[in-house]
Amino acid sequence: MSKAKVATVWLDGCSGCHMSLLDIDEVLIEVLHKADIVYGPLVDAQEFPEGVDVTLTEGAVSSQHDYKLIQQIRKRTKFLIALGDCAVTGNVPSMRNTIPTKRLLERAYVEGADIHQRAPSDGVPALLRHAVPVQEIVKVDLHLPGCPPKPALIAFALTELLAGRKPDLTNASVASLVKFG
Ligand code: SF4
Repeated sequence: MSKAKVATVWLDGCSGCHMSLLDIDEVLIEVLHKADIVYGPLVDAQEFPEGVDVTLTEGAVSSQHDYKLIQQIRKRTKFLIALGDCAVTGNVPSMRNTIPTKRLLERAYVEGADIHQRAPSDGVPALLRHAVPVQEIVKVDLHLPGCPPKPALIAFALTELLAGRKPDLTNASVASLVKFG
């Protein structure tokens, strides 16, 4: 039987959700028996591949790069998971949303810098006016809240999906793990 293709993506997040994914410990070995990790910060693929079965997306959509990437991912993914509060609600990245982006960049890169006081332009993706949750841009199939989500919740979702079932987060074994923050 061919293995499923699983991808992970890091948009505007702190990598804490990926740390929680790694914290599923021995379940990771079970997952790797049934699936290949085909894209994400844990592997060296340069382009998001076609025909991905499950993608876990950490972080809000904050830049033009995030915006284009998440649309490509949606087209190429059967089951898309918003992993963590930044992906689910905007959370920490959206705290900038009341500040105009030009003012934000000046504060961070000019007023807040001791040397090279210049906002980046070349080679840096432009910020969107607002950092938004993934579901504002594309359809999401499952939301796993938490900052970060509990490893047991991630393990449950992956195990169910790789067994061919849609994860039911009202299941008594995980319902108490479905929490923001
Ligand atoms: S939800 Fe929390 S742990 Fe995950 S990327 Fe956002 S701030 Fe980091």
